[in-house]
Amino acid sequence: MPRDPRYDILFEPVKIGPVTARNRFFQVPHCTGMGWMRPRSLAEMRGIKAEGGWGVVCTEYNSIHPSSDDLPHVSASLWNDSDIRNNRLMTDKVHEHGSLAGAELWYGGARSSNTYTREVALDLSSMPNSAGHPYQTRTMDKQDIRNLRRWHRNAAIRAKKAGFDVVYVYATHTYLLSNFLHPRINTRSDEYGGSLQNRTRLVRELIEETKEAVGDTCAVAVRFAIDEEIGKDGVPIHGERREMFAMMAEMPDLWDINIANYGVEMGVSRFTKEAALEPYMDFVKSLTTKPVVTVGRFTSPDTMVSQVKRGITDFIGAARPSIADPFLPSKIESGQTDDIRECIGCNICYSGDSIGVPIRCTQNPTMGEEWRKGWHPEQIEPATSDDTVLVVGGGPTGLEAAHALGKRGYRVMLAEASRTLGGRVTAEASLPGMSEYARVRDYREQQLLGLPNVEVFRESRLSADDVMATGAQHVAIATGATWRKDRFDGEAYLDIKAPGTDPVILTPDDIMAGVMPDGSVMVYDEDSYYMGGVIAEAIRANGNEVTLCTPAEVVSDWAGKTSERWKVRRHLMELGIGIELSHSLSQYDGETAVLACEFSGAEKTLTVDAVVMVTQRAPNDQLFHDLLAHVDGDGTRLPFSLRRIGDCEAPAIIAAATYAGHRYARELENAPDPDEPLKHDRLDVGQTPEGAHLNG
Ligand code: ADP
Ligand code: SF4
Repeated sequence: MPRDPRYDILFEPVKIGPVTARNRFFQVPHCTGMGWMRPRSLAEMRGIKAEGGWGVVCTEYNSIHPSSDDLPHVSASLWNDSDIRNNRLMTDKVHEHGSLAGAELWYGGARSSNTYTREVALDLSSMPNSAGHPYQTRTMDKQDIRNLRRWHRNAAIRAKKAGFDVVYVYATHTYLLSNFLHPRINTRSDEYGGSLQNRTRLVRELIEETKEAVGDTCAVAVRFAIDEEIGKDGVPIHGERREMFAMMAEMPDLWDINIANYGVEMGVSRFTKEAALEPYMDFVKSLTTKPVVTVGRFTSPDTMVSQVKRGITDFIGAARPSIADPFLPSKIESGQTDDIRECIGCNICYSGDSIGVPIRCTQNPTMGEEWRKGWHPEQIEPATSDDTVLVVGGGPTGLEAAHALGKRGYRVMLAEASRTLGGRVTAEASLPGMSEYARVRDYREQQLLGLPNVEVFRESRLSADDVMATGAQHVAIATGATWRKDRFDGEAYLDIKAPGTDPVILTPDDIMAGVMPDGSVMVYDEDSYYMGGVIAEAIRANGNEVTLCTPAEVVSDWAGKTSERWKVRRHLMELGIGIELSHSLSQYDGETAVLACEFSGAEKTLTVDAVVMVTQRAPNDQLFHDLLAHVDGDGTRLPFSLRRIGDCEAPAIIAAATYAGHRYARELENAPDPDEPLKHDRLDVGQTPEGAHLNG
């Protein structure tokens, strides 16, 4: 299909200093949980972004020296010349597709605890580690600043040798350079503190020195926050940033603009929508002639065009949209905009970095699996037979399985009990702020329209006899899971209903089905991710008094991995929802909830009219067991292969569901070696140096 001429502007080449990007699609630096530890996985993944049309593809934060180490959050590194080979893997892959590769040189300062390297962290003054580790920084003296400049210069030279085309001076996100710029944080009394001129000195020196070192062939970019803070009602407070920006406006070859509040810059869709940075960008383009890139979780080509035409940005910056759909640019280019797999803004991608494991994505099950499993986001092995596959359940697992099986060429029957597809995502998307989760369903439903070999049967709740009667050669049970009314006390499931009483105890399934309790409600959250907070908000919106109680020490504990828990807490407070931490629910009689302190065991009570249990989920695996019962539990005697997948196998996050569905489809009649199901990305000492062996 030809490209819509309205989108032509997105495919114009843009000059960045000595290099030229082939289009306006710019994958800004983003963490991956891979970095220097998993270079082959990283290179393959970044290469696929370039293949998908991103004109510029950057690394994650790329550490310039061992005194800037963020483990367990994995950065890239340019500490010595052996890192050149490591980074070269990525730049080669990016160049194969005619794209530019960018390296974001990074020095952490008070944000890096250096728990791996055990180097003393350096910052502009003695201050506590801002990630909460019980370490402090040493105040940088003149020699330290000279050292830093040398490390930065050497890293830039290594970046050039590694093949990078764009080299960043990274002056934001509360790392060292942003501290130097900051009027409150920078308390130095030497030529690096005080006046605007002094506070920008180090950044200006690094821009100049990077240009001098590598600027003949590499563009020099600066990543810079354009505001000081977010004011009331979200209005940006630019403070002195305008003046600061004007002072340096013509120095680099490219400006990568973001904002001080990371929680907005990469906010979850519950709180932050597409193009959220636009109000902050008002003066940027008018003060510089250099190209500008900024982000905004852009997935709509019309929004992208509007941003460029209205002079807000020159490049469409993206981290998450490029993760959810590495082929987003090429889909726009080939007129296949309906095929874009839109990011849902859940930040599961970010959780990989938080935990220290490779990236994953709710929408794109191949993310992170490009090298170790050989999965490509747009290509899949053809079917090896004419077999028919029955997929039971049209939630994210079943939808993804049917979609990927359909693309392989299998004849697929997808049976869904209800009228609507989507299962849990359809239900959850009806909750406050969660509408974008429906994109998990919408993308797949849209794709099924183009697959005549996939038949969808709605309002078809299948029994074991129904399944037996289909004659399918393969059956995947993807019937999901149901929220439980009891709770797991660490050892066993515990019924909280007081003996002889019949209290109102509901679950998220009830609330999502529209059943609302009367009176005051306690939402008991043992799940600790987003559901507790969202359910509390939904009930509060109904006018009820609501208290959120959790045995955890913080609200939505796991949502810290996705960067949202702080926002959730504040939001609940603003809504007037009571919060009860570190207490577990031991009993409820319809009036009095008995809560036990997690530390002392001391009990207290809360008077409520209903309790909503957001605890664990039970797999809906009855159909699976009914089928096995037909053959006395011996699955090999069934006339079809039988698998249960997704939440029906083991309840988990939505990203695990799409992954499970995709994996089933990939591996049907194409099973990996069970003893070595994936490649292991790590330094192979047996092959380094070539031919040398450690065992003799
Ligand atoms: P997952 O996250 O694993 O996809 P969901 O709970 O989101 O799980 O989706 C499961 C889907 O399976 C729901 O849409 C539900 O209506 C459907 N379902 C459950 N049991 C049956 C059945 N026996 N026949 C057909 N569909 C079913
Ligand atoms: Fe978007 Fe979620 Fe995928 Fe991240 S994990 S790219 S936020 S869909």
